[in-house]
This record gives sequence, C-alpha cells and structure tokens, in this order.
Amino acid sequence: MKVAINLENIRQQINDACKKSNRNPNEVTIIAVTKYVSTSRAKEALDAGIENLGENRDEGILEKWSVLGDKPVWHFIGTLQTRKVKNIIDKVDYIHSIDRLSLVEEINKRATKKIKCLVQVNVSGEESKHGLESENVLDFIKQLQEFENISVEGLMTMAPLTEDERALRDCFRKLRELRDQVQAFQFDFAPCSELSMGMSNDFSIAIEEGATMVRIGTALVGDDE
Ligand SMILES: *Cc1c(COP(=O)(O)O)cnc(C)c1O
Repeated sequence: MKVAINLENIRQQINDACKKSNRNPNEVTIIAVTKYVSTSRAKEALDAGIENLGENRDEGILEKWSVLGDKPVWHFIGTLQTRKVKNIIDKVDYIHSIDRLSLVEEINKRATKKIKCLVQVNVSGEESKHGLESENVLDFIKQLQEFENISVEGLMTMAPLTEDERALRDCFRKLRELRDQVQAFQFDFAPCSELSMGMSNDFSIAIEEGATMVRIGTALVGDDE
C-alpha cells in the first residue's frame, strides 16, 4: 500500500472531474477516511500531504488522536450516539452527521468552542440510511440558530449503493440544490457552503455535481489493518 501513489491518482481524477465541470480543484477537500486502517497508515497519509482525517467511531478518533494529536483536521463522519459526544467533542473539528435536535443539544452543551457541523440528509430515502428527509432539512436548520456552539457549514449525504451513474448523479444534484436553498437564506449561523459527498467509488461524479468535501477510504488508504 503506497498512500502517496494512491493520492496522486486520486488528485488526477479530481482534476479531471473539475475540468469537466468547470471547477477549481482547490474547492475540493480530500478527507482520508482511516476507519479501517492503523494509526501508522493514517500517518502515512499525513506524510503524503493529506490534512484531513475522517473516522466514524469514537474509539477510532481517540486511538489515532493519542498519537497524531491536533495536527490533522478531524472529521467525525459516522452515526453519532448522543452519549458518545463527550468522548470526542474536544478532538474533532467537523461533525458530518447532525440529524436530530437531541444530538445538537448535547454537542452545544459539551463544546467549548464552535463546532463545524454538517447536516446529514437521506436524499435517496432508503429505509436503511440515516439522515433527515430532504423536505425537513430547512426547518431543522432554522431551529439551530439558538445554539451558540453550532455552526452549520454544509450538508452531507451517503449515496445509494449502486453503480447506476444516473441514480448517483441525481442524488448528488439534489443535495446541491438543497444546499443552494439553505445558502440563499444567508443565515449567519448557517453559511452552509460545504457539500460532503462522494466516496471511493463515486467521488468523481460527486465532484462534477459540486462536492466540496470527498470522503475517501479504500481507494486512498486501503481497508486492511
Ligand atoms: C467508510 C466511509 C467512507 C469511505 O468509504 P470508502 O468507500 O472506503 O471510500 C465515507 N463516508 C462514510 C460516512 C463512511 O462511513
């Protein structure tokens, strides 16, 4: 596993997707998802030039944080149980999985600085997926104004598990349109400029549809050890 070579490949694909869609590659942040791999592999990613790491369990963040500290920008990308907020709150910069008020209340209570949050949206409407239904997102975000430690930086989604490019594109486009709707309100507590979408198998399509954060695990750092 040579993370640096994978990264070079991925950067090339990002450049291609940006060229196709008339975007600037600087608008796209790569989050290396290290949930399957060791701390030393995460370190290899940092050495290769990665600045953002994503984990989906509190244990994963704590273990890697104890070695890497606050050098990387840390993203919590998984379902977050309310009772686990206190374990990670002073270790993370972004939480991508805001989907209910009780979670927001706990984050707001425990945080000692503003936490950058993304609201998770279940665009595809699949039963098995976490996140708010699209039609509830705007009302939900309006309720977040009162929480002084919460900043709504954007929206996040997981695409359906399919290779049907049209279905993927549809999902990403819908999230972008929703983001544009929220952004148009110009709430100061919800700049909502970020679109966290796209993983190893679909990040090029996500970027063509406007992703500003891609969450890449397998294709970048692998999925063994
Ligand atoms: C695991 C995971 C990823 C990365 O998945 P890959 O297919 O390995 O790139 C991205 N986002 C979330 C929320 C994940 O849980």
